[in-house]
Amino acid sequence: MISRIDLRGEALPEGSALRDLLPRAEFDVEAALEKVRPICEDVRHHGAAAVIDYGEKFDGVRLERLRVPAAELRRALDELDPAVRAALEESIRRARLVHRNQRRTTHTTQVVPGGTVTEKWIPVDRVGLYVPGGRSVYPSSVVMNVVPAQEAGVEGVAIASPPQKEFGGLPHPTILAACALLGVDEVYAAGGAQAVAMFAYGTQSTADEPGCAPVNLVTGPGNIYVAAAKRLLKGRIGIDAEAGPTEIAILADSTADPVHVAADLISQAEHDPMAASVLVTDSEELAAATEAELKTQVAASKHVDDRIVPALAGRQSAIVLVDGLDEGLRVVDAYGAEHLEIQTRDAAAVADRVRNAGAIFVGPWAPVSLGDYCAGSNHVLPTGGCACHSSGLSVQSFLRGVHIVDYTRDALADVAHHVVTLAEAEDLPAHGAAVKARFGWKVPR
Ligand code: NAD
Repeated sequence: MISRIDLRGEALPEGSALRDLLPRAEFDVEAALEKVRPICEDVRHHGAAAVIDYGEKFDGVRLERLRVPAAELRRALDELDPAVRAALEESIRRARLVHRNQRRTTHTTQVVPGGTVTEKWIPVDRVGLYVPGGRSVYPSSVVMNVVPAQEAGVEGVAIASPPQKEFGGLPHPTILAACALLGVDEVYAAGGAQAVAMFAYGTQSTADEPGCAPVNLVTGPGNIYVAAAKRLLKGRIGIDAEAGPTEIAILADSTADPVHVAADLISQAEHDPMAASVLVTDSEELAAATEAELKTQVAASKHVDDRIVPALAGRQSAIVLVDGLDEGLRVVDAYGAEHLEIQTRDAAAVADRVRNAGAIFVGPWAPVSLGDYCAGSNHVLPTGGCACHSSGLSVQSFLRGVHIVDYTRDALADVAHHVVTLAEAEDLPAHGAAVKARFGWKVPR
């Protein structure tokens, strides 16, 4: 069901050579660019009509309008199962606690007497949040996108999620209910690349409904078409990291419980046939016990043939055997998992040594599922090894730091000769002239 990669007995290679030995899903965003380019162009030129056409083509339902009426949002919340409502409310409450603490404060540095630089954090004006809804629906992603945007102070929040045939072309009712709970009333039944293009280019108002105003930033996870559209339209819009198929890596030693390890590997495999589940261990016993557990637990799971088995058996998943914990840490750092669990002795100390991971889950009582829903942490995280250069979604994703430079005459005079010297060194004399002009063309000394 899951392959083994045995890295024991020899020194591990360095850097990218080690990364090349590790399993990884093929997520060829470049190849998907050619597919999404015409979709985005169509939306650019034909607006909502094109989004509706692609909804019919890819989601199998023809819509009359894209914007979800306010009455449908209210109805979805009224009809929401009370237990689901309570769970969503708790998820929102915890996420708010964590994300509120991420707010940035304005900071002024006195560089010299009379010369200050203030860094001011300004929220993006308008964001488009993508909530996936192809294979599974993710009301939890509504929470994970909206809470940091709101805590950052973003005023314009729009959400897009694919139309669902079985719900008359509306996004899934639990997604609508989550939007209503969070006070978001601008929701579109649009999925895939066409939703990202709708956010980037905006759509014209028609007699039936107001258009979608263009946004400054698009965030949220999605499939390869969503990622490709984000890459294509980056620049016109800001984007968060390109989130690909989900990944879990577990660094475990002989103290780990194979029942937990197997359950956690399966929990991410059930997202997607391209999802990756990777166990890194120095314990042959744990590896064998996990393999046995996987057989038992997979047999009792849902989504077995369409997602879990292809994900676990795919080249992106494996049990990686290493000589010891130090080698295990090198492997998980080279892999840079979206989600990394540490199930070892002294798990907190081991977690402290990790450098590359989207989020780290420490010890036996912090499974990734907790982070998916109710830890308070964000679940929109960098995949595909991007954790070595990117972070998950946070309040910071929705803010821009602006430097405010304020110098007096004396403070500028004090440094003018350096500015002129550097301008001349760069052969940009007009830069120097802009300073000289302020002092009667004589640089003060
Ligand atoms: P999705 O909403 O991302 O994509 C569905 C859309 O894809 C459809 O609306 C359709 O318009 C478009 N599409 C389908 N086939 C197409 C084709 N042939 N050409 C062009 N467009 C096409 O939903 P999904 O497919 O279920 O993918 C969701 C992904 O998000 C999964 O990989 C899941 O693992 C991931 N995810 C990641 C996180 C995270 O935080 N990293 C969280 C939740 C989900």
